[in-house]
Amino acid sequence: MKKNVLVGIAVLFSFSGFTQKLPPPEETEVWTPVPAVVDPHGKNGAPSDAIVLLENGFSAWTSQKGGQPKWFMDKGVITVKPGTGEIRTKQAFGSVQLHIEWRTPPVDSAATGQGRGNSGIFLMGKYEVQVLDSYNNKTYSNGQASSIYKQHIPLVNAMNQPLEWQYYDIIFTAPEFSEKGKVVKPARVTVLHNGVLVQNNVEILGETVYQGAPVYKLHDNKLPLSLQDHGNMVSFRNIWIREL
Ligand code: MG
Repeated sequence: MKKNVLVGIAVLFSFSGFTQKLPPPEETEVWTPVPAVVDPHGKNGAPSDAIVLLENGFSAWTSQKGGQPKWFMDKGVITVKPGTGEIRTKQAFGSVQLHIEWRTPPVDSAATGQGRGNSGIFLMGKYEVQVLDSYNNKTYSNGQASSIYKQHIPLVNAMNQPLEWQYYDIIFTAPEFSEKGKVVKPARVTVLHNGVLVQNNVEILGETVYQGAPVYKLHDNKLPLSLQDHGNMVSFRNIWIREL
């Protein structure tokens, strides 16, 4: 009882400022640096400091097979032309914020699981955020839309129906390697699917692989972003990226 009374008095004193004098508020105000001003509704709906990757045809892209991409292009919408291979940006990127809108094709009732609306966004050309028609389409959870393919199951399934536009907002932190090529800081990624959090700052375990365990292999600090040709006519539009 006595002890409680003493604690009570101590708390009372500390609240009333008897035991400590707080510094003036100015002491904890930081005035520099001043964040740069960004117009969030800059060019074509992208923030004013973003690099717009889909504007003048395929000017920002090349084909995995060399030369201009052979994908379809119609009024700022690009669509996978099956068999022509992935496309990748001419510019290389490290850590980024990426906005990308995508649409899966009409349902082919003969196609199920991974065969329905499959594509992918390969950060640094190596780490896949899966694109798939996961609307009423069962597949392994770590391979459905919004998964970090074969590594992380999405927190929820936030799919729109096929033929409806969807979007990802991706925040990616590139991995760091030692001089000897060992990963010292694995990559991390946060993904919002249609505005819903689906990957919360998860650690990427290595390069995306279909079989076996993912492993890191030393690579450049910046590499092109690529979009997968998985044989399905998935479309993309309004792609912009901000270097972090
Ligand atoms: Mg894929």
